[in-house]
Amino acid sequence: MSASLDAACRRLAPGACIGVLGGGQLGRMTAFAASRLGYRTHVFCPEEDGPCAQVATRRTIAGFSDYDALADFADQVDVVTLEWENIPVEAVAFLEARVPICPGAAVLATCQDRREEKRLFDRLGVPTALWRAARSKVEVAAAVADLGAPVVVKTARLGYDGKGQARIVTPEDVEAGWRRVGGVEGQDLPIIVESVVDFTCEISVIVARGQNGAMTEYPAVENQHRNHILDKTVAPARISAKIAETARDISRLLAESLNVVGLLAVEMFVVQDGGVLVNELAPRPHNSGHWTIDACHTSQFEQLVRIACGLPLGSTERFADAEMENLIGDAVCQWPELLAEPEARLHLYGKNDVRPGRKMGHVTRLHPLRQTK
Ligand code: AMP
Repeated sequence: MSASLDAACRRLAPGACIGVLGGGQLGRMTAFAASRLGYRTHVFCPEEDGPCAQVATRRTIAGFSDYDALADFADQVDVVTLEWENIPVEAVAFLEARVPICPGAAVLATCQDRREEKRLFDRLGVPTALWRAARSKVEVAAAVADLGAPVVVKTARLGYDGKGQARIVTPEDVEAGWRRVGGVEGQDLPIIVESVVDFTCEISVIVARGQNGAMTEYPAVENQHRNHILDKTVAPARISAKIAETARDISRLLAESLNVVGLLAVEMFVVQDGGVLVNELAPRPHNSGHWTIDACHTSQFEQLVRIACGLPLGSTERFADAEMENLIGDAVCQWPELLAEPEARLHLYGKNDVRPGRKMGHVTRLHPLRQTK
């Protein structure tokens, strides 16, 4: 690293406190990584006894619109990161004026709105599904006529794990699809309508980008969904080297264009002709990167800690291939059998209520790489 690049990094020594916005499992695993390197964490989240609040050094239990609590939090931390991209941009901008935060409000503003993401892809010439923005049932119908059915309608904001999504297979389904995503007569609802992609597989790449613009990334992984929720990740993805390189180049271009400081997860579809279409972005640790805890020299969570604290990025090299399976809802009840499996590494998130569709934990199985020397 050159002297000038090094000077651009605000290095925090172990002992410093990393603020984490959001109290879920991604925050929990970030807190574990921070703790291993001797850093403290202070979580800010609305829910008591959530996965991150259970393990963070300190906690503020408050809503993201509680500006007094946010100001106190800013006074108590040395840097802030986040584990959920739907933190209100106003809260992040408020903190950004008081304390370094990665990623910042500008990155979040793009990643919170599918229209902004798509505009970015179009501006950069990054392939994505054909899409149209719509605000009303009439505009959805026009978009379906324009693109041709089948399409997927998605709320532009606040959708996750397939929530706020519906398929429209024929023009007659427009009304039902629009209502399924929350459309109400006479009210504007920002939506995107996109062509259904006939993909061969879904992949993602996680890029880590430091304060000085240095970047590294994990290999593309393959993601299998069930009921729109990530079920399994196979690392690395079973794709050609050429497709992997395309996915990597796109992901790095996006991280650089957004000037991300932190992590950027890029979800993509691989199509029949080997093309790669970007679906969406997440500027935080990602479920498809959990395997890195057990199979890589530096996990995605440690990478985020390093970036927040201005430390050099760690090696993303893996010493094993891996399969990560989410334990969703009552699948978590298999924990005793999983513990008995020698190659299974079990991670439970400390959530008390088992609910259908809720991510309760995950298990990673490793296939160690054979040493060549
Ligand atoms: P998303 O919330 O955009 O990540 O979508 C959740 C899941 O729905 C994706 O991982 C895909 O399995 C599926 N999906 C989303 N958009 C499309 C599309 N345009 N064509 C086909 N499948 C899609």
